[in-house]
Amino acid sequence: MKTLAEYLDLATQAHGHLCAGQVLGVRLAMLGLRELGIEDSVAERKRLVTYVEIDRCVTDAVALVANCRLGKRALKFRDWGKVAATFVDLKNGRAVRIAAKESSKKRRPASKKPTRNFPMTFFSTSNGSR
Ligand SMILES: [Zn+2]
Repeated sequence: MKTLAEYLDLATQAHGHLCAGQVLGVRLAMLGLRELGIEDSVAERKRLVTYVEIDRCVTDAVALVANCRLGKRALKFRDWGKVAATFVDLKNGRAVRIAAKESSKKRRPASKKPTRNFPMTFFSTSNGSR
C-alpha cells in the first residue's frame, strides 16, 4: 500500500484538485483495505468489489485507492448520499463498511481549506469473523 501522501498526490492528479473529498476518500479506502488485509489493490484487483454511497468527490479517491472502476464491474454505486464505502473481499466473503462520521466535518474550521492532515474519524463494521 502506498503512503497517504502518495495517494493524495495521485488523487489530486486524477481528480484535478485536492479537496476534502479526496482526503476523506483516500483515508476511507486505505482504512477499508487495511481492515481486509489487502496490501496491494492493483495486484489483487479481482479480490475486491467496492460499493460507494455517494457520487461526489470522495468516490474518485476511493476508486483510485481501491483500484476499482465501474467499467471493470469492481465499483458499485448506491445513491444513498453517505460518505461511505463498503469493501467486499471476494476471497473470503468478508466485508467492511467505512463511513465518515458527521462529526468529522465539525472538527475542521470552516475558514480553512482542506489540508492533508485535517482530523477525521471513521467507524467500521464487518460481517466477517473478526
Ligand atoms: Zn473535489
